Amino acid sequence: MNLNVNEIFYSLQGEGGRTGQASIFIRLAGCNLSCSFCDTDFERGMKMTLEEVHLQIEAYPCKWIVWTGGEPTLQLTDEMVAFFREKGYRQAIETNGTRKVPAGIDYITCSPKLHFEKVRELIPEVDELRFPIQKGDPLPDISILPKTERYLLSPIFEDQQIIPENVAYCISLIRQYPVWALSLQMHKLIEIR
Ligand code: SF4
Repeated sequence: MNLNVNEIFYSLQGEGGRTGQASIFIRLAGCNLSCSFCDTDFERGMKMTLEEVHLQIEAYPCKWIVWTGGEPTLQLTDEMVAFFREKGYRQAIETNGTRKVPAGIDYITCSPKLHFEKVRELIPEVDELRFPIQKGDPLPDISILPKTERYLLSPIFEDQQIIPENVAYCISLIRQYPVWALSLQMHKLIEIR
């Protein structure tokens, strides 16, 4: 079994419900969307076997993997998740909600960008819904989205810089609709990966 890997790095989770926790990020190449605000280089990839990936990540004193992308569900299978589970890893995934999530994932972050009405059918329940949002964007209709206990608004940054108007807009929405909470991209604020 091979993966097309864009990069592997060890850092702290910078956003969402696991903010601040040490994590091994495995960015898989390729995405099935092309969002205008996308700040990720996910096109380049290197073919790696699961054993090669494991060899690289076992150097880190951490047992949390974050599968990210791109869109990691384009490549990740139940068998691949089981491989790393057997090695003792807990696994989180960051998905755009356009495809099913493999079995065995411990923490699902869903950040839908398109076709909101289809996401719940594919992924009925998630650990967090996280929405990048900028001033003037409407709030999504959560009644059609996967069930969760964490609805997060993430103000969009520009060139790695915080945009105060976007933060103020999120705060104003959260005050009106308190089911939502703020998720800042902490890693950009403190300039880590
Ligand atoms: S779904 Fe995510 S990775 Fe893919 S283009 Fe959109 S923001 Fe970028």
